[in-house]
Amino acid sequence: MVEIKSVGVIGAGQMGSGIAHVCALGGYEVRLHDVSRERIEAGVSIVEQAMARQVSRGMIDQAQMDAALARIKPAVELQDVGATDLAIEAATENEEVKKTIFRALSPHLAENTLLASNTSSISITRLASATDRPERFIGLHFMNPVPRMNLVEIIRGIATDAGTYEAAVSFARSLGKTTANAEDFPAFIVNRILVPMINEAIYTLYEGVGTVEAIDTAMKLGANHPMGPLELGDFIGLDTVLSIMNVLYDGLADSKYRPCPLLVKYVEAGWLGRKAGRGFYDYRGETPVPTR
Ligand code: NAD
Repeated sequence: MVEIKSVGVIGAGQMGSGIAHVCALGGYEVRLHDVSRERIEAGVSIVEQAMARQVSRGMIDQAQMDAALARIKPAVELQDVGATDLAIEAATENEEVKKTIFRALSPHLAENTLLASNTSSISITRLASATDRPERFIGLHFMNPVPRMNLVEIIRGIATDAGTYEAAVSFARSLGKTTANAEDFPAFIVNRILVPMINEAIYTLYEGVGTVEAIDTAMKLGANHPMGPLELGDFIGLDTVLSIMNVLYDGLADSKYRPCPLLVKYVEAGWLGRKAGRGFYDYRGETPVPTR
């Protein structure tokens, strides 16, 4: 089994920064890549803020934070992640974007490097086919926010070999996470169940069954969910929610997965949720207020 000491993270958004965070705290050397130096720096500053919160809550101390931050190095060129032991792709949820990254990265990989994707829904087998090493490719699906959520869903592609699977499970466990195995079908387990529920909540809003507040209050108090489904959609990112619905709709060819037209409209408006400052709620003031 490959010993993992260094981790490359491609995509420094909400998820990539969270993955860099837990890997650095777990003692791994991290190379963080995104499309520009500014994006990488923005990702590192998300990590700094999140670690500072952990320090203020007594979960880690300042020395641990400083040591972990020092382990995160920017990788301005994609090829700079090629020499790591495990490269985890956490870029935008778009199959072409991900395949382009894997095609560009493959020639620069060290012989033993393992590859993983944090995709929420896209076929691991198809993504693996864009690389030179489908047997060393696996789905490592972290949950948002990565430092706080305990699950990593593990998805083997058709060609993933046993050594890669074992290395991936022990890597996730070394970060203090629990793993659950899912077969390589659209959106795996968590999002196969969760995202259609969010889409249904958007239909409920679209059809006027309830307001944003009523829908979220109903599900928080009526189903004991920690977040309402519209708030959760904003938290995930509505572009990601739409991509996952499209993967389910196309991959399972069942009309029950059709994305709600209101979801499409929000994404077209650039109202992508919390990360864009606006979605079903407006986050630009002191407290979030519904946008409709
Ligand atoms: P995000 O929009 O916050 O970040 C995506 C990042 O990818 C951006 O910084 C973007 O600049 C970068 N990127 C785009 N093209 C790139 C390229 N060619 N090379 C390098 N970087 C590139 O999105 P996110 O929420 O972090 O989602 C990232 C991945 O994680 C997606 O596959 C998503 O499905 C998955 N995921 C998301 C969640 C969630 O709740 N948001 C949960 C689990 C998994």
